[in-house]
Amino acid sequence: MHYQRIIIKVGTSTLTGGSRALHYPRIVEFARQIKVLQERHCQTVLVSSGAIAAGKEALNFPNLGKHIPAKQMLAAVGQPRLMAIYEQIFSMYGIHVGQVLLTRTDITNRKSYINARGTLETLLENKVLPIVNENDTTATDEIGIGDNDNLSALVATMLEADLLLLLTDIDGLYDGNPADKRSGLIKEIREAEISPSIWNAVSGSNSGLGTGGMLTKLQAAEVARRSGTTVVIAYGGNENILQQIMDGDTPGTWIYPLEDKMENRKRYLLASAQTGVGVEIDEGALKALQKGGSLLPVGVRAVRGEFQRGDVIYVFDQGGKPCALGRCAYAADEIARVKGMHTNQIESALGYLYAEELIHRDDLVFLKGKGG
Ligand code: GLU
Repeated sequence: MHYQRIIIKVGTSTLTGGSRALHYPRIVEFARQIKVLQERHCQTVLVSSGAIAAGKEALNFPNLGKHIPAKQMLAAVGQPRLMAIYEQIFSMYGIHVGQVLLTRTDITNRKSYINARGTLETLLENKVLPIVNENDTTATDEIGIGDNDNLSALVATMLEADLLLLLTDIDGLYDGNPADKRSGLIKEIREAEISPSIWNAVSGSNSGLGTGGMLTKLQAAEVARRSGTTVVIAYGGNENILQQIMDGDTPGTWIYPLEDKMENRKRYLLASAQTGVGVEIDEGALKALQKGGSLLPVGVRAVRGEFQRGDVIYVFDQGGKPCALGRCAYAADEIARVKGMHTNQIESALGYLYAEELIHRDDLVFLKGKGG
């Protein structure tokens, strides 16, 4: 199996090698392995913790207590430091990096979602490695994602990744307390329902350094596998762990996806669409869509209803039948201004260009038996 798009999540305990400070050789090793993945034409995103740890280190481990503003302050100090280290180390391998700080609202709000995804996609297209972390300075426990395991699953879903790799300080999920010799490594989970005994076994585990434990990893895996992503939980200190996984070795715990990405996308789009809202297209545009093309303004005849950039809308054929649906990169009033135009006229008509397509083909699904 060739995994084309991979999200790699490294936790604080992996980056520090279990100590209090960032462990540079570990980071160099990740950079080297990510370079190999890029040479194999894999698109990789790194979801990295370590901001708070880097902040503590920079300020010489102050005793600030556990209240939220203190953590936020440490993240504010540590995040640029962490990025500076990544920048320096990845540049040794000729890799440019870009920082993407996300909050829960960036993922739940449709407009921010499409903006964040657009940025990540563009970084990947340009072979820049996105390094994602939660924006700890504005996220609090109530409104935050809280841990980077869940954040990485949301990124995997957003980017429809093939593989989510949760690297940690232990070699995978165990069916009991890992310190207990009677417990064994769970090699794979294929069944649709993760058994209560596995949930029980992982609850309460935490290395004490990062935020997540095995419970958040399993929660993250549950989210990602539902959108068609394979999840591997493995030991981050394993030499060549990334290559091993790409070469089909199966260290760690493999959690297999529940459905294919197309089905998931369709279900998601159907659930998000507002009936009767969308665009009416001409015959030529319908043919282009059926051949796998994207929806361009030139083929749009009319706009129906109100919608915002990032909303899921219907595509109606000339007879008014809904034939497809998709996530739209422009709002209804913007489309009303560019309909019938060629793509190269969008920018002068609106004064900006979000995308050349109104609906990218990756964001579009056909409604079977309804003209599609
Ligand atoms: N965002 C936090 C940091 O960079 C880490 C959250 C986590 O460990 O899951 O320090």
